[in-house]
Amino acid sequence: MADTPQPSMYSALERQRAAHLQAPFDYAERVRLLKALRKAVSSRKEAIAQAISADFGRRSRHETMIAEVMMILGDIDHHLRYMRRWMRPRPVPADALFQPGRCEIRPQALGVVGVISPWNYPAQLALMPMTAALAAGNRVMLKPSELTPKTSDLLAELIGSTFKPAEVDCVLGGPEVAAAFAALPFDHLVFTGSTAVGRLVMQAAARNLTPVTLELGGKSPAIIAEDFPVAEAVDRLVAGKFMNAGQTCIAPDYLLVPQAKRESIVSAMMAEIERRYPSLLQSPDYTSIVSDRHYQRLQALVDEAEQGGARVFRANPAGEPIPAESRIFPPTLLTDTPGDCALMREEIFGPVLPVLGYSSLEGAIEHVNAQDRPLALYLFDHNAQRAERVLNATISGGVSINDTLFHIAQSSLPFGGVGPSGIGHYHGPYGFDALSKLKPVFKQSRWHGMGLLNPPYRKLADFLAGFLTR
Ligand code: NAD
Repeated sequence: MADTPQPSMYSALERQRAAHLQAPFDYAERVRLLKALRKAVSSRKEAIAQAISADFGRRSRHETMIAEVMMILGDIDHHLRYMRRWMRPRPVPADALFQPGRCEIRPQALGVVGVISPWNYPAQLALMPMTAALAAGNRVMLKPSELTPKTSDLLAELIGSTFKPAEVDCVLGGPEVAAAFAALPFDHLVFTGSTAVGRLVMQAAARNLTPVTLELGGKSPAIIAEDFPVAEAVDRLVAGKFMNAGQTCIAPDYLLVPQAKRESIVSAMMAEIERRYPSLLQSPDYTSIVSDRHYQRLQALVDEAEQGGARVFRANPAGEPIPAESRIFPPTLLTDTPGDCALMREEIFGPVLPVLGYSSLEGAIEHVNAQDRPLALYLFDHNAQRAERVLNATISGGVSINDTLFHIAQSSLPFGGVGPSGIGHYHGPYGFDALSKLKPVFKQSRWHGMGLLNPPYRKLADFLAGFLTR
């Protein structure tokens, strides 16, 4: 059966579990592991950029440096800086009745954490969950994506030459291996990928009662307020949407703009796109679509919308013929998109952006709330009161105001979806806590009054019970 764990995966897990029971990682070991990971990534940064680019066809080197290498190294540094503080027992007050007893929360490593990662940021989304797990004192087994095979091979090499298998291990393979991996009795499983596969992962984990963190996707809206400067919004939206050619889980999926400004916003966006990517075929900054299947899916989404009456704006500043084999998908904006087409129902996950007009901000909020809870929400508004209204009236995994994407880059903010866009959080202290058992400990004091409440209950117990339940 596909979802039966292979013996070798089982023995890898058993080896890690035995090592954990024998010698859980102390602070010094965790520092050693994180520093080793840092060195391994930093010394392979060019190899990482080349592997990802080879897997995609073309991936902007700068975007790999910023969104993968810099993110990973910054995250490791943040953990190295604060980990000792997060590891300390956290004293909390005992309830009045139990004083002078004392309470504390002791973060404790869970054991072995499984990580399943996707292809779109194949290094970052494999190594940041791993960093959180190691910092929390766990061993890690990673299953990277089969769609970026060169990067996955590089990750396996990086892990194999940096760690012992009892510390960190890597399992390679496609969906069948992934399904078997998800069925392993991990102490926690972190999955990043689509909502559909997230459901399967949670079902597999449920059989072992393995807790899960699910980092999923969804349709993230961006709303521009009526009086927000168009150039400012366009600058940030083009940056957030066309990075990695839109293959970003928190990329704006659709745009809600004041109806009266729709045409001018579309024109300004097209002009800005053409300025940034003067030749789609030649520009090293414009990334291609990861596979033919994904390219064709995007093509079909746009075709269906166009046939349904949408107006389609395709950027091609150099007027070049762009062969499908290049998997360069032109930045595409759409207006008048029929509400029932797949483009408006499915996560787009590519450089395609429907622009919807709204007649009132309340209408825009209603539109957002009629969809699944999104992974991100973007609001362009300098009016603090209105921004407050949108924050309170909508729920999403995260929010950036007057920008896109950057809430993910804040080490002190939790990252994760809500409902169909995800379960649980990581990054910084949130990942550390999610991958620790926060063990509650009550310490009774030498002198205490608990004996007053022992049977046989008499008058004093009656009096106390009466007083405490008054
Ligand atoms: P995917 O769900 O197809 O695959 C992700 C991983 O799951 C791969 O390693 C794959 O091998 C594995 N997998 C496949 N079948 C499985 C099964 N039955 N059981 C267990 N694992 C299985 O996702 P993808 O196409 O690689 O990534 C794109 C999706 O990921 C988008 O929806 C995107 O929004 C989402 N995403 C979310 C985040 C986030 O942080 N929330 C980040 C990146 C991507």
